[in-house]
Formats: sequence, C-alpha cells, structure tokens
Amino acid sequence: MPDPRRAIPRTDALLAEPRIAKAAAVLGRELVKSVVKDVQQVARAGEIAPDDVVDVVLARLPAGASSLRPVVNATGVVVHTNLGRAPLSPSALDALVAAGGTTDVEFDLGTGDRARRGRGALAALAAAVPDAAAVHVVNNNAAALLLCALALAPGREIVVSRGELVEIGDGFRIPDLLESTGARLREVGTTNRTSARDYAAALGPDTGFVLKVHPSNYRVTGFTSEAPITELASLGVPLVVDIGSGLLAPHPLLPDEPDAATALRAGATVVTASGDKLLGGPQAGLLFGDADVVERLRRHPAARALRVDKLTLAALEATVRGPLPPMRAALEASVESLRDRAQALVRALDGVDAHLVASVAAVGGGGAPGVELPSAAVSLPVRYATALRTGEPAVVGRVVKDRCLLDLRTVRPEEDVKLLEAVRRCG
Ligand SMILES: *Cc1c(COP(=O)(O)O)cnc(C)c1O
Repeated sequence: MPDPRRAIPRTDALLAEPRIAKAAAVLGRELVKSVVKDVQQVARAGEIAPDDVVDVVLARLPAGASSLRPVVNATGVVVHTNLGRAPLSPSALDALVAAGGTTDVEFDLGTGDRARRGRGALAALAAAVPDAAAVHVVNNNAAALLLCALALAPGREIVVSRGELVEIGDGFRIPDLLESTGARLREVGTTNRTSARDYAAALGPDTGFVLKVHPSNYRVTGFTSEAPITELASLGVPLVVDIGSGLLAPHPLLPDEPDAATALRAGATVVTASGDKLLGGPQAGLLFGDADVVERLRRHPAARALRVDKLTLAALEATVRGPLPPMRAALEASVESLRDRAQALVRALDGVDAHLVASVAAVGGGGAPGVELPSAAVSLPVRYATALRTGEPAVVGRVVKDRCLLDLRTVRPEEDVKLLEAVRRCG
C-alpha cells in the first residue's frame, strides 16, 4: 500500500494554488510559506488528510497582513477606547484608500508649488465651525493640550480648577501632561466648587493661560459650581477650553455636552477636542480659535512632531464633509429601531436560548458621563461571552447577571448578519 504521506502536495504546488497565491500577494510570500510548511508537517504526522491540506492552509491564513482583528462592538459603550473609538464612515474609508497613494496633501497641482498641508481638512473644519477664525490639527487632543502648554505657557503658569484635573485613561493625567512641558499648574478652587473669582485671584505676571477642562469621564454632583466660559473669557488672559468629545455644535440628545461653536462664542481663545470621539472620525486633536494664537501654535517647533499623517487628514475631511458617521448614527438611532433589529435576531436564532431585553447604553469615557441611552439587546446564556469574543469575527458584548447581552446601539445595522452568524457558530 502506498504511503499516503506521498500524496501531500509539495510546497511549490501549494504556493502556486490560485487562492493561496492570491493570499501571498497580500500577506507576503514568507508568511504564507511558513503556514504551508506548518500544515505539511501536520499532514505528515497523519493528523489531516493530504486532500485537506489546501483548505487547512487557507483556514490558517490571517485575513490581512495586519494582526488587528475586526471586532463587532456589542458592549453598548458608544465611544469605546479599547475598541478603537469611532468606526469610520464609508466616505472616510474611501478617502483613506485614495490618500494611501501619493496625493497633493502638500502640493498645489495648479501652480506646481508647495501648498498648505491638509488644507482640505482645515477648510472643512473651518466651514463646520464658522466661529473659529483659525483651525489646526494635531495627533490627538493630548497633543493639542501639549502644544498649547509649550507655545502659550513655557516656564509659566497654567491656571486650572481642582475639579478639572482629569485622568484620561491608562494612567495618563492631563495635569502631568501639561507639567511635562515645564509649565507650572496653578490649581484654584476646590473639587466641587470653583468661581471666576478663584481664577482672578491666581492671575499674575507668570500666567500663561487659564485652562478649562470638560470632565468627560466623570461627574461631580451635589453642591457644585463652576465658572462659566463667559466669565473666564473676561479675565484678560488667553482661555483654553478642552471640550473633549469633539462636538462641533450643540447636540439635542446631549444637552450638557460642551461643543466648539458655543465655547468660542462664549469667548474661549482656543478650543481643543478629539477627532475620534463624538465627531466620529480618525484619531486627531482639533484646535479652533483666535487667528494669532493658532498661528503661534502652528509655528511652534514642536508642532512638526505633533502633526498628523495624510491618512488622518483625508479621513477627517471626509468625516466632516460626508454623511452622518456611524458614531452619530449609533447615538441617534431610535430605541424602536434597535428593538426591531434585536427582535429580528432573536427570531432568526431559532433553538437558541435568546431573547430580547431592554438595555441602557452609554456614550462612554469619551463624553457625556452619566447620560443613559435607552437601548435593546439580545440576551444569551453567559457562556456565549467568551465564545463570541474569541470567535471570528470577534464579538464583544456585556455580561449582566449571568447573561451575555449584545447591545444593538453600538452594532452597525450592516453588521447584524455577521452577528447572527457569529452567535449561530457558538451554538
Ligand atoms: C478624551 C479626552 C482627552 C484626550 O483626548 P485624546 O484625543 O485621546 O488624546 C483630553 N481631554 C478630555 C476632556 C477628553 O475627554
């Protein structure tokens, strides 16, 4: 009887197999070859049949050359930092692909001369926030604050309320970030109450600017008060307002969430914000404000180290100019529409212990602390939580009272089919 191992396809033949060759064009020949060798080894050990080698190789190949795995966010936390915050809109994704090649990011095709880098994104943001005389974009909101400290308070004081000394996440704190530039923090007021008089009393020749930070991931309630921007704006020193989440204009569902237009109209010199929270775009730090001050930020030597990539500029412009990004659609979806989708999923999961439950979603660490968004979820036995999280595609839900909840508010409608198949596979 012939040795079945002799029927194992050879390496060259496997690499020439059309589907494997196609994968090699994306993943690189070396990576694919190492998978081929591993699978041949498994076949030689008799653990799989020679006829199955091609299928096993294809199954073992990663979906792309990046090790990042797509995740369906079913947590009900809209701005989920650990899951990469905002999913980009289709128009932003198209823009990323276009910008991935060589582009006119810093070049005027009409004259053949160098042009203002990222002028399309800057113009889009300026049009969206007409109250801003100038706009600048950096790597993230932390970089925006860093640049303000470097350019506006070198060796000087930044006056900030004790109620606004925010830890952003992963152990990073805004006060430490600011002090790392050599600026000194001048804390005023108390944890729960700070008045404009507290700020005024702390001003002096050493003052670089007054900073107001939105407590975007916690709430101080009870006997509290803070100084309004209008009062801080009349103190005679620059006022930097970190609004955090990146709302460009007021949002009816989030009445307490600050926005760039309102802060500027109230007198802020500079407003800083993130691009990948409620704005729904790529990671970026947005700076809006006074023309002279923004120009000082833009010309500071450190600005070069904080500048954004062409991919960011492309995605940001498309997010601002294009249709409602997924982040905003998730925020604004009616609870009825979420219930209908959850009900349809439950019905399709015939034979699975699945039912529709009411749920409460949250905006997340990126903004609107304490805001509860009514939602709907598919409730499954708790053992699904791990199976879904480690499946393909990965689905991350929320475990509540020994049930695994898949909250539909953070799942994009076009992901429902994927979600259904993922649950069925775990059944
Ligand atoms: C999220 C946040 C930051 C940090 O923004 P990144 O874009 O993540 O750097 C800073 N300040 C506030 C108020 C925030 O909410």
